[in-house]
Amino acid sequence: MKTFAVLQLSGCAGCEVSLLNADAWIDEYKLLYMPLVISAYNVPDVDILLVSGGVRTDEDLYNLRRAVKNTKQVIAVGTCAISGGIANLGNRDEVRKLFLAHQVERPHVPRLLPRSHPIDTFVEVDRYLPGCPPTPDLFMAILFDKPDFKPARTVCQECGRKKLKDMRPKHLLGFQSGEVLPDICLINQGYLCIGSSTRGGCGAPCTRAGHPCVGCRGPSNAFIEKESSAWFDSIQRVFASMTDIPPEEIEAALRSPQLALFLFQFSDYAGTDRPPRQKEKVL
Ligand code: SF4
Ligand code: SF4
Repeated sequence: MKTFAVLQLSGCAGCEVSLLNADAWIDEYKLLYMPLVISAYNVPDVDILLVSGGVRTDEDLYNLRRAVKNTKQVIAVGTCAISGGIANLGNRDEVRKLFLAHQVERPHVPRLLPRSHPIDTFVEVDRYLPGCPPTPDLFMAILFDKPDFKPARTVCQECGRKKLKDMRPKHLLGFQSGEVLPDICLINQGYLCIGSSTRGGCGAPCTRAGHPCVGCRGPSNAFIEKESSAWFDSIQRVFASMTDIPPEEIEAALRSPQLALFLFQFSDYAGTDRPPRQKEKVL
């Protein structure tokens, strides 16, 4: 039986909960390490190491470097391990100041690194599974390496809502405001949905339920090897073609704290000299 471990760095444990909901692996894999459910001090030798969470502290870095020595394959799972995620919040000056101001009172808390990093800044990654969290089906697809599993190119292709030519909003509606019409594209209704440039595979659970896609699966293959500006430009082009909303309004909304998930997603695309990820490695 193949073995695997889950190394949790700085994150929220949402990826682990999603993996536990994908129970079909239980007959084929033996889980040897996962702090959320299995108590063990060190990551043992395993076939596959799933890493969730970003590298935010000196302890994260130590644990990551040590764990990858004991595995044949490293898979980065979730937004935090790949693009910054919630761990990236600590890059904001005000959060850092607050944390550092209280660090003396918390001697057992690991030291923050100057900024958070995706795990491939430090170790080689064989596969990437983006999502916040990746759905149970996506976990199954990557663990079983199913050759027939091809995620849709974009979330739009999985959404099922119709894009209308004659319904052009002039302004954005806020998150969770207004009454969402069924079956009609959320952009036509004035919501900031970025499913058109977000990679598919999740099955569009958010947009089907009436919530705009915030891009947790990361950029589609068309943008994955480009800078974040290409992703922003594509979103602007979609809104220009379907709405009369001023581009400044879209830009401000994309960067607003309310939609901080966008910032998390883009955080690793701007200003780094990390080589682009090969899209073949991303599920
Ligand atoms: S833009 Fe959003 S709501 Fe519209 S079709 Fe695409 S995913 Fe669905
Ligand atoms: S619809 Fe968008 S936000 Fe929702 S799970 Fe899919 S990629 Fe993530």
